[in-house]
Amino acid sequence: MRRLVLVFLLSVFCIWSGVGRSAESSVSTDSGATGSSSSTIVVTPDCVKQVTDKLITKFGEASRVRIERGVPQAAVYWRTGDGTTQEFEQYCLDNFASDPVLLKDVFARFEKNFESIQGNYHRITRDIKEPIDLDIGEKLPVDEPFAKFDPSNHLQEDLFQTKLAFYVLLNFAQTSLMDKLKDGPKWSRDEWAQTRLVDYFPARVPADVQQKINDAQIAGESYINDYNIFAGYLLTADKKTPFAEDLSLISHWGLRDHLATLYVTDDGLAKQEMIFKVMERIIDQSIPQSVINKKTFWDPYSNTVFEKASDTYKQIPASPEPDTRYAMILKTFHAQQIADPLYPKYPRYIDRRFDLERQIPEKEVERILTSLVSSDVLPAVGELISKRIKRPLRPYDLWYSGFKVSGMIPEKELNEKIRQKYATLEAFTKDVPRILQFLGFTPEKAQYLIDRIAIDPARGAGHATGAMMHGDKAHLRTRVPKNSMDYQGFNTAMHELGHCVEQTFTLYDSDHILLAQVPNNACTECFAFVFQFRDMDVLGMPLKDPQVEHIKTLDTFWTTYEIAGVALVDLQVWRWMYENQNATPAQLKEATIKIAKDVWNKYYAPVFKIQDCPILAIYSHMIAYPLYLADYPLGFIICYQIEDFLKGKNLAVEMERMCKSGYLTPKQWMENAVGSDISPEAIIKAAKKAVEALNK
Ligand SMILES: [Zn+2]
Repeated sequence: MRRLVLVFLLSVFCIWSGVGRSAESSVSTDSGATGSSSSTIVVTPDCVKQVTDKLITKFGEASRVRIERGVPQAAVYWRTGDGTTQEFEQYCLDNFASDPVLLKDVFARFEKNFESIQGNYHRITRDIKEPIDLDIGEKLPVDEPFAKFDPSNHLQEDLFQTKLAFYVLLNFAQTSLMDKLKDGPKWSRDEWAQTRLVDYFPARVPADVQQKINDAQIAGESYINDYNIFAGYLLTADKKTPFAEDLSLISHWGLRDHLATLYVTDDGLAKQEMIFKVMERIIDQSIPQSVINKKTFWDPYSNTVFEKASDTYKQIPASPEPDTRYAMILKTFHAQQIADPLYPKYPRYIDRRFDLERQIPEKEVERILTSLVSSDVLPAVGELISKRIKRPLRPYDLWYSGFKVSGMIPEKELNEKIRQKYATLEAFTKDVPRILQFLGFTPEKAQYLIDRIAIDPARGAGHATGAMMHGDKAHLRTRVPKNSMDYQGFNTAMHELGHCVEQTFTLYDSDHILLAQVPNNACTECFAFVFQFRDMDVLGMPLKDPQVEHIKTLDTFWTTYEIAGVALVDLQVWRWMYENQNATPAQLKEATIKIAKDVWNKYYAPVFKIQDCPILAIYSHMIAYPLYLADYPLGFIICYQIEDFLKGKNLAVEMERMCKSGYLTPKQWMENAVGSDISPEAIIKAAKKAVEALNK
């Protein structure tokens, strides 16, 4: 649906553990129905001044401030298709609301109607994307086109053409991120809700431009959704197949997650090296096209491809993937570039991602992440890992799972336990009330939540999508293969459950529908992680070791370290594209690898004692969910601050309170939630303490 800002934030989610196609994820729109002339701005500064004076004459000095603010706000978006300058003047004279009671009633009407519009469009979109998102049988040829179909595509332009958008812009204050950071803490809840109403209109984007953005996004998602490596067909030099025959690993999630399970198996190291080699070949695109999503025998070391006849392997010709990975990133970049001039306050996609959506300035995010990856405790954590695995670190030890509670139990045993417990999705669904009560929710509250959450079988690894209107449900999607759920599926399900509980509280407990969400994806992720971290407890397999707390801290810390580097690469790649706007896919590939190596050499080589590794460029998010990655480390950092705060308190009660605070800036939200702004200090401090304790 039309990614008006509000909707935008709600709907990009949970792609941590697998291919979660976001149900929606575009930006604001309009239909451009009146052709190119409609894009001409007609209200000159002189005209704005004249209209402003007339309104002050009509409504009096008491309204001066609001008039001087509202007229220019509306004028910026007025196009020839909307009427002449005289008509603009008349519109303003007729529609400026000087009566505070009227203004209050109008605002309430907007809120009520927007809930219905947005909530219903969301439902439609979710419904028609089900064949793509859910594991409910073969896709039909019409499913992809339906997935591209956006019923709310013309909504924003309709709001302009009916002049409803102009009513909002004329009467309510439009604020920048800086205004929100500075003045937000002084605003009432009503004022916050009003500023969120105006935030629906950061730009007026013609439908054809929006369509290009959506197409690029869908193309990127389809590309990565079909990027499976059939691990059972990976060959060693002596033609052994070390992986299970039916093992299919989606890049990068499946590769990464499977690699992380191999620490506890005897032949794990060789398999890890093999997966790492596959990753390198994906990044540098030397991977043969014929092994992507195809059951083709492949020796990733010699990079040769084989067919098997009776019991012998015969090498067959193969050509590398033709830089498609980077062509996909460029496709998204070029689509976003067309929208750039349409956002006066957010001229680069980077600005829209950071200031408009994430609501933390780009430089501030970079500062937070950089301070984390350069923490002086990291070499000691690296040494600790090296000691535990009894060898020097390898680059893929970024995904070291030995700090995970689950990593301490062999995967087989863990999978067995999950299979017994959750043979079907229904079995998991039935257990959710118990899980919620285990986490601290009362039976009534657990019932309240489960009544508002639907649980579906995911086609990808899983995701969650919240409801946008009262009466609708949040949807938890997780993967349950035919032979029942495995540990990864359960772990993802816990993550998505955290999302759905948050989504339910923020919608159903909010005093304003316009404030019915947490501030950004990082805040969304933190609750997902809070749930995910408790997966073993929920299973009734808590570790009794008194060191568990420290081990958990290091797990979070190490993961944050890993993903912060990936996020820095993502950001730098986007900056590079803006500096090199005519780059070819091959040039982007070269630049990406260089950026990844530079970030590695600066912040990872000192810990790993290995130079020039490109591994930080493996994440698929860079293709389908650009500039999203920073939300994960921010989510972990926030999560840790919240975990720290939760100690000795009831998770359920505190989570409900935090969610209710709603759609403020992340800074203000955090100050309400835990009493301080986002900061990696807490997690770094705890990591130091943990290293000390574990080295004793
Ligand atoms: Zn998530």
